[in-house]
Amino acid sequence: MTGTMLAIVKERPERGASLVRVDIPAIADDEVLVKIDYASICGTDVHIYLWNEWAQNRIKTPHIMGHEFSGHVVETGRSVRGFKEGDFVSSETHIYCGHCYQCLTGHSEVCQNLQILGVDRAGAFAEYIAVPERVLWKNDPLIPAAWASIQEPMGNALDTVNAESVAGKTVLITGAGPIGMLAVGIAKAFGATQLFVSDLSQYRLDIAKRMGADTVLSPLRDDVEAVVREQTHGVGVDVVLEMSGSEKAIHQGLAALTPGGRMSLLGLPDQPVTLDLTNEVIFKEIRVYGVTGRKIFPTWETVSRLLASRLVDPTPAITHQLKFEDWQTGMDAMVAGTSGKVVLQIAGR
Ligand code: NAD
Ligand code: ZN
Repeated sequence: MTGTMLAIVKERPERGASLVRVDIPAIADDEVLVKIDYASICGTDVHIYLWNEWAQNRIKTPHIMGHEFSGHVVETGRSVRGFKEGDFVSSETHIYCGHCYQCLTGHSEVCQNLQILGVDRAGAFAEYIAVPERVLWKNDPLIPAAWASIQEPMGNALDTVNAESVAGKTVLITGAGPIGMLAVGIAKAFGATQLFVSDLSQYRLDIAKRMGADTVLSPLRDDVEAVVREQTHGVGVDVVLEMSGSEKAIHQGLAALTPGGRMSLLGLPDQPVTLDLTNEVIFKEIRVYGVTGRKIFPTWETVSRLLASRLVDPTPAITHQLKFEDWQTGMDAMVAGTSGKVVLQIAGR
């Protein structure tokens, strides 16, 4: 397809971005062109928008941001077999090579030659996007298009929750950002019996509560470890899901975790973290999991079923649904931390 489209473009290496007209991308033989219905803003897009140190080292301008989306196929490359015009799709954002050791042994989410959509190639804050067939995902038609655009971060949340079973377990989630909020609904759906959530923001704690948290705690006001201990009969929680990237929260989580428990780390500290491994981890026999990306595609299948069945209702976590032209309002809310998921309506607005 030829012609032009609207896209949010990082035009220059500085803070900001603009909604401008650019060419509709051409597709390679193994790619599909998707007309985007909804796109949602991720923390990574905020980093690119603010032009932090990571973005300065990684992003080449001009660049189309965004990677979480849902849409419809409008064109397929010559070698594409699994998709046709009209298919309702989303996309995995980790574009794996399919040939390296990790790809060949079931860990394509940590492929050695990973390219990330909206980071290393043109993204989804646009009317059209070109995506390789191997990362395209056919959506369940029972899932509303706006919800379908948040499956990717929901996949991060799912793999953090499910590094081991939470059924019948007591759980503390540190950090109720957009991903932590989604993790609340998922942990409940998978049978967590008592769910604590900590965050510095009361706005976000209120959303966590609406997503199903039993007890919400602010480290600014509450002694997180003491409350967790008191409400678990002195035992501490079985599971900690770290979704803040805060060193303080990591120590707090480990302190609230019962010996023999499990901690999954998704949050990304921006500095190296110092741990007393002997006392915080080893003598307590804690199992620690690092989580990155999502299993391609087992995690998508589970996320899809949770949404299609309404076992997880993400409505409280989707705080903004805005027209594409109003993207700045959504970006400002993300920067200020006064949002959950911000979803932009692109087609049919
Ligand atoms: P976010 O930054 O919006 O949310 C983090 C939340 O943690 C905020 O609401 C903040 O108030 C809260 N917080 C800060 N200090 C805290 C403390 N001491 N105790 C409790 N809460 C505290 O981020 P998000 O988009 O929800 O993502 C969550 C984390 O996961 C981020 O660190 C992000 O970088 C990371 N992430 C990792 C991957 C991965 O593949 N590993 C993917 C996506 C996001
Ligand atoms: Zn690979």
